Amino acid sequence: MSQSPPRFVCIPLGAAGGRDEGNLSAYLIAASDSHDFICLDAGTIATGLAVAAKRGSFDDVSLPSDSPLTLEGEVLHHHVKGYFISHGYLDHVEGLVQASPTDTGKPIFAMAGVLDDLEKHLFNWKLWPNFADRGVEPCLNIYRYEELRAGIAKTVPGTPLRVTAYPLSHGPHTDSTAFLIASGDEYLLYMGDTGPDAVEQRNTTGDLWEVIVPLLRSGRLHGIFVETSYINNRPDAQLFSHLTPRWLFRALRQLAERVDAAAPQTALAGLTVVITHIKPDFSATAPPVPCVHRELHEENDLGVQLHFAEQGEKILL
Ligand SMILES: [Zn+2]
Repeated sequence: MSQSPPRFVCIPLGAAGGRDEGNLSAYLIAASDSHDFICLDAGTIATGLAVAAKRGSFDDVSLPSDSPLTLEGEVLHHHVKGYFISHGYLDHVEGLVQASPTDTGKPIFAMAGVLDDLEKHLFNWKLWPNFADRGVEPCLNIYRYEELRAGIAKTVPGTPLRVTAYPLSHGPHTDSTAFLIASGDEYLLYMGDTGPDAVEQRNTTGDLWEVIVPLLRSGRLHGIFVETSYINNRPDAQLFSHLTPRWLFRALRQLAERVDAAAPQTALAGLTVVITHIKPDFSATAPPVPCVHRELHEENDLGVQLHFAEQGEKILL
């Protein structure tokens, strides 16, 4: 696979898959020549902005000398143009809840079922005031729900980006979402939480692969963000619609096969795969995070470029 110059910037505001309430799934994405971001999932916002600012990841965002805001506030108020929520589970929306009283007006893009969950179960004046524009009155109208339909690209006002949503299976009670982000004719794929097709008894990952095969063949996919929540020895019955290193690489090998059936071993070589959502626990003797890292490297017979997302870093893709 030929390496094209970076077209996207990603700053993870939160990268872990649980336990640490200050480091949950949220990824700022901008076109590489822009400082105007979309935020994919919103598990952690404020802590992630502070960590990113401290790490210098916003050093090229100009803070006007007369700005009444901190750099983090400037980024959130003026450079985050909208949220994309893969599903409504708390580890993907907690940061949004906490940010909402001091946030500025923004769209929340999601598929209909996810918007419905946010409206009925979160921003409903029971769990939290209704900061959105529909549902239980009064609506505070900070956020505007914008429905995404599978396979139909949506332009994001204030950015050069277009985003297309695709459903992902995430157990019997909710669907998750993959977002295909386009800048011009170059692409990035973000996958929300999902389990293996074989365990989920659905084909949502396989269907998604069909969409990205032509992009991979023409060298226009700059990376895939995908979860690996658990270590390999987790039984399938205990996956709760998540992936292990072995299951992820089974899926990637199926993708490679579709990209180039004659030479699947090299079909994805050099592709950046950003690993998200590893679930830490409280084990002192067998912490899962380094184990997932090791197992992913052991599984990697495709030559993909594994990148373990870290809170506040700046990734060029
Ligand atoms: Zn999650």
